[in-house]
Amino acid sequence: MGFSVSTYAVRGVLVDTAFHDVRADLGAWIGANKPDGAIVTHHHEDHAGNVEFLAARGVPLWIAPETLAKVRSPESILWYRRWCWGAQAPLTSPVTPFAHPSLELIHTPGHSSEHHVVWDAERETVFGADLFLGVKVRVTHPWPREDVRAQIASIRKVAALKPKRYFDGHRGLVPDAVAQLTAKADWTEDTVGEIDALIDRGLDDREIVKSLFGGEDRWSLVTNYDYSRRNYVGSVRGTHAGR
Ligand SMILES: [Zn+2]
Repeated sequence: MGFSVSTYAVRGVLVDTAFHDVRADLGAWIGANKPDGAIVTHHHEDHAGNVEFLAARGVPLWIAPETLAKVRSPESILWYRRWCWGAQAPLTSPVTPFAHPSLELIHTPGHSSEHHVVWDAERETVFGADLFLGVKVRVTHPWPREDVRAQIASIRKVAALKPKRYFDGHRGLVPDAVAQLTAKADWTEDTVGEIDALIDRGLDDREIVKSLFGGEDRWSLVTNYDYSRRNYVGSVRGTHAGR
């Protein structure tokens, strides 16, 4: 599909667990490297796909309570996500809690309500999972699963840390991360402002997509609008003042 996703190892800790279809490779890596624990940034199957696999092998986990609840009964995902990553096995094994003194978890809602990034203050490094993804991302899952307005505040919070290094969940090392994060927050804020203005003029989501973005892109069609521009507009409408 042209997607990739990264699982990082830092200070003997895994950041995210990869997707279910690569569990054999992950198992070999765990056996060879024996990490002290793993951090789960959020519940999506390309990041939390092997939570059960790790828990069953006794790897301690840092996982937010809301994420824990979600991976115990994973949401049903559409065929394109199952096909791309493999469906994740629900968490049934007991979890040994984990924390690392040099790795702070920062709540960054938006992409999902329980999304966290990992902040290594001593090394001025962020593992950002799906916070960034790109500057001009204008497709999302449906509201309220994604909250575009909350995403702006989360991005600014992480940019304010002034990280020297930023590792994205899908794009690897992001050069000049503070500038890129700031550009994304600015672009998103402008775009949300334009959408707000069109909502106030009475346009519906489809009309706004057409007027602002020139229509849908191919992902909307491939995913039957599960991942689409109209969801992006819908997310802004969902948090529109006066609603
Ligand atoms: Zn995600």
